[in-house]
Amino acid sequence: MTPTLHIGMAGAGLSCAVIARELAERGHRCTLFETRPHVAGNCHTERDPASQVMVHTYGPHIFHTDDDEVWALVNRYMTFMPFVNRVKATVQGRVYSLPINLHTINQFFGKTFSPAEAQAFITSLADTSITDPQSFEEQALRFIGRELYEAFFRGYTLKQWEVDPRKLPAAILKRLPVRFNYNDNYFFHKHQGMPKDGYTLMVQRMLDHPNITVKLNTALSPAQVSDFDHVFWSGPVDGFFGNDQGALPYRTLDFERFEAEGDVQGCAVMNYCDEEVPFTRITEHQHFSPWETHTHSVCYREFSRTCQPGDVPYYPVHLTEGDELLKAYQARAAAQKNVTFVGRLGTYRYMDMDVTIRAALDCAAAFLARPARASEQTTERATPQTA
Ligand code: UDP
Repeated sequence: MTPTLHIGMAGAGLSCAVIARELAERGHRCTLFETRPHVAGNCHTERDPASQVMVHTYGPHIFHTDDDEVWALVNRYMTFMPFVNRVKATVQGRVYSLPINLHTINQFFGKTFSPAEAQAFITSLADTSITDPQSFEEQALRFIGRELYEAFFRGYTLKQWEVDPRKLPAAILKRLPVRFNYNDNYFFHKHQGMPKDGYTLMVQRMLDHPNITVKLNTALSPAQVSDFDHVFWSGPVDGFFGNDQGALPYRTLDFERFEAEGDVQGCAVMNYCDEEVPFTRITEHQHFSPWETHTHSVCYREFSRTCQPGDVPYYPVHLTEGDELLKAYQARAAAQKNVTFVGRLGTYRYMDMDVTIRAALDCAAAFLARPARASEQTTERATPQTA
């Protein structure tokens, strides 16, 4: 019989919460260490006490997925309300619809194209000499041509990543569709919604299990790994090794919060694509809960910059070349027998929430299915690992 294991977890965001619940339901004891005063990681939400607006403290998080199991899991802990992300973009003093769709194309070029005409027109603008786009810029030029690329993507991307789009991987742009109809839903997934009472309550409910202990405002240090049978680490992978080979690059975000009466911008997310505008977007949080009524509005102006020690790391920065440092950390991470690295920071991946949950479910299943180690068949502790 598999004995009850004591599992340590660094972080109480989606990854560790999902794994903890899976393991706790199989009888294992999980202790989560979270340095912040709340669970839910960067999808943390809290009601602004004055206005009662549900604020996405670390920037906008919209749940969307094609994965039925993931959708069922989040709905087990929270009611999801219908929500469709309809993003707008301000470019050179005009407002457009995103993602690029037939309305955007007709607005931008002053046309009344049908879908087929728009498709033929965009094909005529596309750089067909690029057969296998590698970079963000090549991907854009290949599929939408220079004018739309420069208006909607170049400036925004320079502000967001501070890297020449020729050095960013095409995968970042592949997140966004181009549509030849008037569908302005930012996402193309079967399920989309917003948690009625916020992500934090959803994660609190996941963690509400007799086998789970959460220690807020408390770090798990790599030196404590040997206190547990196994550790799941959702903190930065380079941080686990004390950044001893150098720090991996991350982007952090600064939010300039402002409040106003009424409706400030009429939508949840307005992107500002011009390079001269210093922020990337303004989010108006009351519009993330369209089923609620508010008279006072809470907004964030979002600025992106290089993450320095002490900042919150948001986006891992992947370039088309030069990932030796990441590979070196990943090789050492893979060699840690008693530690599994999970989540956006632990695996250094740009992950949406549903992908994070899917990866966590798979990780828990693999852990539960693995052959028990000798140390687990006795009362002895697992062998301490050195970094
Ligand atoms: N992007 C852009 N202009 C926009 C929106 C997005 O250039 O108006 C680019 C930018 O490089 C961004 C990427 O597309 O990092 C992915 O956009 P997404 O909206 O998925 O970004 P997230 O919400 O994850 O920050």
